This record gives sequence, C-alpha cells and structure tokens, in this order.
Amino acid sequence: MLKVDNIDVYYGAIHAIKGISIEVPKGEIVTLVGSNGAGKSTTLRTISGLMKPKNGTILFEDKNIVGVPAHKIVGMGLCQVPEGRHVFANMSVMENLELGAYLRNDKDGIARDLEDVFKKFPRLLERKDQISGTLSGGEQQMLAMGRALMSRPRLLLLDEPSMGLAPLLVKEIFNIIKEINESGTTVLLVEQNANMALSIADKAYVLETGRIALAGTAQELASSEAVRKAYLGG
Ligand code: ATP
Repeated sequence: MLKVDNIDVYYGAIHAIKGISIEVPKGEIVTLVGSNGAGKSTTLRTISGLMKPKNGTILFEDKNIVGVPAHKIVGMGLCQVPEGRHVFANMSVMENLELGAYLRNDKDGIARDLEDVFKKFPRLLERKDQISGTLSGGEQQMLAMGRALMSRPRLLLLDEPSMGLAPLLVKEIFNIIKEINESGTTVLLVEQNANMALSIADKAYVLETGRIALAGTAQELASSEAVRKAYLGG
C-alpha cells in the first residue's frame, strides 16, 4: 500500500533522514520505533506531504506522492494524526470531527462514519458539545484519532499516540488502534513506547539517527535479545 524508497530529508543543513526505505502492506500495522530524534516524526511528516524529501520516492497505492500537497494526500486516503494531537482547542468536539470530513461531500457516508467514531470512542459522544481545549490529554488523543477517521483514510499515520498518557489510557488507545486496523484501515504507527507498539504491530522498523538500524516482524524484534537491550529497556 505504501512504499517509501530511499528518501533523504533535510532541515536546512541538517540531514535528518538518510536513505530510509519502508514498506507498509495493506491491512497491516507497521511500527517505527527508536529513541528521541531518530527521525520518526520527520519520516511521517514527509509521507504526509508536510516536508519534501530531497530525493527518493513515496508510492501510495502505486502513485508517487512526492510533491503532492498535504491536503490532496488526505483526499487520496492517507491521513496523519500529529504528535501532540493539535485539536482545534476553541471548537467543540463535534466541530472538530466535522472538520475531519471537510474534504468529503457524501453526507450519508459522513453520518455513518460519525456514528462509527462515537461507537469506538463513547467518551467523545458524551462530550460532543464540550470545548476541545478542556478535554483531558487522553480524550484529546481520541478526538484527534476520531477526526482523522472522519476523512475515511485507507492508511492512518499515528505519531506517538501514547505520549503523556497514563498506563491505563495507553492500553485503551492501543486497543482502539487494533480495532481500527481490524475494521480495515492500514496503520503506520510511530512510538517511543516500543514494547506496546511491538505488541500490536505486524512489522517493525527500528530507526537510529536517520537510518533504519533493524527491520523484521514485530514478534522477531520483540523477542530479540539485542533489540531488547538496545531499545526496550532490557
Ligand atoms: P521525537 O520522538 O523526539 O519527535 P523523532 O524520532 O520523531 O524524535 P524527529 O523529530 O524526526 O525525530 O527529528 C529527527 C532529527 O531532525 C533530529 O536530529 C532533530 O533535531 C531534527 N529536527 C527535527 N525537527 C527539526 C526542525 N524543525 N529544524 C531543525 N531540525 C529538526
């Protein structure tokens, strides 16, 4: 579904991504793990069109999307939930969700997807009229995910969904990611919580200073002694 081939990305003179290649097969959950500053967010932002690679290609469903504006990429069926949620703080939960469907005009489909989002996140239904800036961190993460789902993505990119959340909520968010995947959405997940990410992913890549240090099935990486020592806290 997604094939990133040998991309290089710079911030001015800083060479942040050094020839990364990643494949995300349809229907799977693929995770990128690695420490702070390894380049995980930059990789996601490049895939979703917020940054342009200096070279390399990014094929989404066989079309090269390098240079395609971010909003057009959303319209093609690829949506990112950014690190830090970025909900529209002064708008209600409902308005945030409606904005997620901004590029669509299939009213019935939108209504069905809204119902589906409320089924996945009952808390958002309870709080649909609440101003989003007053939600808890976990609720804002749910809203950011719900808003992305309202664009009906075939590929969902998630950047650090567990960041700053209490362990119980982290579990809940990961269960929902699994559920989203089981209902047909392919997922590319960036996480610092490597243990949790590997527990739900099919495939994983370990990033280290802009390069892929290791790749394999999530199970292989989770059970590898070397990976555990270097990246999973023993
Ligand atoms: P984190 O989990 O901390 O976000 P990450 O793995 O997502 O880490 P990136 O945020 O992609 O890493 O950063 C990769 C590299 O690019 C780092 O060396 C970082 O300092 C650099 N970088 C990121 N954003 C910028 C920016 N706006 N300007 C300059 N350098 C940046």
